[in-house]
Amino acid sequence: MQDKSKLLETPVRYFKGVGPKRSEILSGIGIETALDLLYYLPARYEDRSVFTKIKDLKAGEYQTVRGKIVTTGSRASKSGGRVFHAAITDDTGYIQATWFNQPYLADYLKSGSIVVFYGKVERYDRLQIVQPEYEIVKSDETDSLNMGRIVPVYRLTKDITQKYLRTLIHEAVTGYSRSLLETLPTYIVARDKLVDIKFAISNIHFPANFNNLEKAYRRIVFDEFFILQLALALKKNDLVSAPGGGLSHRLSGELTGQLVKSLPFKFTKGQEKAIADIERDMSSGRVMNRLLEGDVGSGKTVVAAYTLALTAENSFQGAVMAPTEVLARQHFIVLSEFLLPLGISVALLVGGMDPKSRAEIYAKIESGNIDVVVGTHAIIENRVRFKKLGLAVIDEQHKFGVTQRSLLKEKGDNPHILVMTATPIPRTLALTVYGDLDISVIQDQPLGRKPILTYWVEESKRAEAYSFVKEEIAKGRQAYIVCPLIDASAQSAKSKAQNVTDMYEKLKTEEFAQFRVGLLHGRMGPKEKDRIMTLFKKGAIDLLISTVVIEVGVDVPNATVMFVENAESFGLAQLHQLRGRIGRGAFESYCILFADPKTEEAAKRLKSIEETLDGFQIAETDLQIRGPGEFFGIRQHGLPEIRFGNILKDFAIMEAARHEAFDLVSRDPKLEEGRHVAMKKSLFVRFKDNINLIKVA
Ligand code: ADP
Ligand code: MG
Repeated sequence: MQDKSKLLETPVRYFKGVGPKRSEILSGIGIETALDLLYYLPARYEDRSVFTKIKDLKAGEYQTVRGKIVTTGSRASKSGGRVFHAAITDDTGYIQATWFNQPYLADYLKSGSIVVFYGKVERYDRLQIVQPEYEIVKSDETDSLNMGRIVPVYRLTKDITQKYLRTLIHEAVTGYSRSLLETLPTYIVARDKLVDIKFAISNIHFPANFNNLEKAYRRIVFDEFFILQLALALKKNDLVSAPGGGLSHRLSGELTGQLVKSLPFKFTKGQEKAIADIERDMSSGRVMNRLLEGDVGSGKTVVAAYTLALTAENSFQGAVMAPTEVLARQHFIVLSEFLLPLGISVALLVGGMDPKSRAEIYAKIESGNIDVVVGTHAIIENRVRFKKLGLAVIDEQHKFGVTQRSLLKEKGDNPHILVMTATPIPRTLALTVYGDLDISVIQDQPLGRKPILTYWVEESKRAEAYSFVKEEIAKGRQAYIVCPLIDASAQSAKSKAQNVTDMYEKLKTEEFAQFRVGLLHGRMGPKEKDRIMTLFKKGAIDLLISTVVIEVGVDVPNATVMFVENAESFGLAQLHQLRGRIGRGAFESYCILFADPKTEEAAKRLKSIEETLDGFQIAETDLQIRGPGEFFGIRQHGLPEIRFGNILKDFAIMEAARHEAFDLVSRDPKLEEGRHVAMKKSLFVRFKDNINLIKVA
């Protein structure tokens, strides 16, 4: 890199006021050089060009106030600690700030000082602000960095104050930002109407006005998203252009045609479209990497069967991996029904099998005597060797993560990949978490499905709800009751969540004594679980008391009631999945949610599941309520955490960045062009964590 950027590597200890001790503290938050200071981005901003007058403060909101400290003091708190308090005035009123167990504040916040407080304002008998962030400031005229402007607020660490860090970063901005090299190719900067990087960095810290801040923000977020999308584009390019075994299938229709003829139904539009996508991929000469997304009951399994038939038709083997044994067995049964009549041999491979039959299956897979293997992660064990794996189908992929996906892939010579998920993925996340896959969505449901009626019910209606379940069973239907826990040992003192063991004992001997009641949970052995599921499928169990092990894939069309205990303790996606276990036959189905939500957020979630059956809408709501971090665990997918931008709020920037990244990689797949080499260097230096993601040359 040029001399100019060498300057950016100036260690922070050369800055005013940074000795060995402070430089070590700064290094703890990732700041070692001038460049690091420039990229230590604000967590938020305070508009200190105008302050809210104390008399205009609104209770319940986070606000910033400025005033002079008039009194301070400390007292004992109810819980036995100490409370330090400081009251300030700005001539329009008084407000008191309180802090728990921070007695050292007495040395810092003294009467007569001008301070800025930021926190949630509350009104008891008078105005209060609890545990606010605080900062001592001078009067407006003499303190141009901390007052009278939009002020950046940074994440702090012990022994560093806002003012100290702000001063340091200000020094970096004035002394070093002009040495920054443009991170993006200039044609992208121009095409996307971005501000240049020097302007962006200066204004992200010390914007002259909100308009500049917005432009700076858009530019920095674009850079952040662009790296992510570049990583995805490179990865995808790597995947699809790999030469391999399962390429360029012929679409003879020999077996797929037979399969279609054997079906008692016609494909829905969504299924037809998905199949067309898959056929195009598999005959294209490139490797398929497709995500098949469809709500529960949308008919993904038969699409998988079709894809497996197409693979067999071209003399390749297929593997189907499911996250749980119950689901693997279910797939095995269903796929066998579809495929055996076509002369395609299907085998099951799960953990609990005896060594002898397992060894037999290994041998048959290796010799090519088995066409399709269905199983759990037992499939990706070392000992499993395929003769000619051409297709890997992965169901419910978010339960696996990318590592397993690639392990399965390595069982063959670049087999085609079909990932199936019943978790509707909001578009926002699809572009990130699954950004390296092509996506087919089955949005329609097979005809003849009745909408499920969902009720959120209170404890007082329990007896009524039970009689309703009894009526359904008396009509010949079946029902599920799902509890969050296996037994009472997992119960905490606080939450008295229901457990299946006690529930089973009680219902079997009391309310449902006249019916056949079954128990299912994850700690039972695989044989026992299998036995119970089989009994339920056959109709030999009327009421199944279960944990969420029945969550995915279980298909019993005669079951019409899903009764969920402590529904507030389940995620939205999970509730939606559970509800998808019913409404699979011709009968009207009912989802009954027992819930006692303790927070507004929990209540919102329940309301949304009650109001809509649309999985995509539910997922979008879930994402909005919980935020992207928790939604999927982006890390777990091997993708960088988005630190600055917000993938929900900044979706438009994500789309633009994706468009540019994919366009760039399609023209220069190895980032070899001069201008792209420079970009690689400068861009990746700035977002250090992300460098490893991109294994380019
Ligand atoms: P998913 O795996 O997407 O939850 P399934 O593949 O288990 O859904 O399908 C649910 C049920 O619907 C199965 O019994 C399946 O045979 C049936 N089914 C699938 N496609 C159709 C269709 N086009 N028309 C009618 N029924 C269908
Ligand atoms: Mg399924």
